[in-house]
Amino acid sequence: MGNEEHIQNSSSFINEDKDYIFLKKLEVLYIDNDIAAQKVIINHTTDTIHINACDSLYSAYEILESKNFDVILCDMSVPQKQLKGFFNMFEQKIPIVAVSNTMDAKIAYLAAKMGAKDYILKKNNDLKNISRLLHKVYLEDIKEKEKNNSLQLLNDMNIRIVLRDLINTELPIIQRLNTSFENDILINETIKNAYNIQANDILSNNPHIVKTLIKMNFLDKEFIEQTVACPNCKSVNIFIHYSCDNCKNSNFKRYDAIQHIKCGHLMSNKKINKNGKVLCPNCKDFYEYNSSNFSSKPEYQCNICSNTFTIPSMSYGCNSCNIDKFSISDARWIELNKYKLKSDNINKIKSNLFLLHDLEKFFKDLEFSVKQYEKIVNEDHTLGPFEMIVFKDRYVFIFILLSNDLQHNLSKIFEIDYAVKFIDKEIKSFAIALSDTQEIVLKLLKKFNIIPIIKEDLQDILFEIKKHI
Ligand SMILES: [Zn+2]
Ligand SMILES: [Zn+2]
Ligand SMILES: [Zn+2]
Repeated sequence: MGNEEHIQNSSSFINEDKDYIFLKKLEVLYIDNDIAAQKVIINHTTDTIHINACDSLYSAYEILESKNFDVILCDMSVPQKQLKGFFNMFEQKIPIVAVSNTMDAKIAYLAAKMGAKDYILKKNNDLKNISRLLHKVYLEDIKEKEKNNSLQLLNDMNIRIVLRDLINTELPIIQRLNTSFENDILINETIKNAYNIQANDILSNNPHIVKTLIKMNFLDKEFIEQTVACPNCKSVNIFIHYSCDNCKNSNFKRYDAIQHIKCGHLMSNKKINKNGKVLCPNCKDFYEYNSSNFSSKPEYQCNICSNTFTIPSMSYGCNSCNIDKFSISDARWIELNKYKLKSDNINKIKSNLFLLHDLEKFFKDLEFSVKQYEKIVNEDHTLGPFEMIVFKDRYVFIFILLSNDLQHNLSKIFEIDYAVKFIDKEIKSFAIALSDTQEIVLKLLKKFNIIPIIKEDLQDILFEIKKHI
């Protein structure tokens, strides 16, 4: 794809300037059967945009086969099923902006759900900024592809918590075996809860997170050792059977055998005579009992067949599947690793991670109750989780973090709007973004009385929030 070269060249450019950048003249495919609207939109675009208008999805499919586009503008007044098919096919490859005659939150959400990057109204006021919006969407798309979606993953609450705990504890994640007698589970939760360390629980329920964090370049892998796993199911929950190699029973005792060093004969017990000497039945002679004549070493004797042996026979059974009694040569070997934070990459996301931490501290100092990743539940509905909810007396503050994902943003906004209607308190809600957000999001925040806090710097965000408290 010719685009790759472009992406590489553009990265430094984007970071320096957050506003309206023309990387190039954009090729935009505009699908709308309203010919008058087509004219209006073409009139509103600047010379940095080249609009290719067509009047149906059918012709759009055809055009897209033979030509590359930077952005697609798609009118929403087409049957939903057709729109879905179209979005499905193209939204991953080319950013799509939804266009509509009406300011309808439902249509906007539908568009977002299908993968639209933004939603624009065919009204003069909105169209004034259409060139800026198209360039922004195009830049965001490049940025997103550059980042390999890594920061997007920070919207995953579990990943955030694991990273937070790794930073706070300064400890690595270590793979180890932890199998125990089933009837003897004793867990002291006190310490874990006091420090609110949740990473272990999250990791045990979502083992894939480690892989994701490595892929995101947040963790380094270090080999520790290898261990035995079931050849059938790869489980490390292995039971070791120890037995007599003669009769195969697992019923034996350990004792210290005495060996006569001169002839190598082994005695299960020694008889010391009056003179302090011991008889070697092999040499048929008495020897002084000291370390130059005799040594002692651990031995085992079978309680069933009396066979003696120095090492019990070992075979393995799997506690997770039905395989029993396999030998070490049948076993599968697996690696145990240690995962350490890569600090340079973590620094890039620290503000994102610690935003909530700082906010929490601020409100706790004001004696608010603070809940992170909290759901609001009544008889009929579960809303959230919201990134943070703080409350005291009649006051409730709800915080959400906006992301690049339009659908995520819109669903959070709708949930806040719904929550506000059924909680009988004085609610203020805030939507925080660490970088620009979508136009439609700004509009809906205004409509639903949610305070937008769009700042790059942590301190600025806190400062701005304090003004509203
Ligand atoms: Zn035996
Ligand atoms: Zn001897
Ligand atoms: Zn198994």
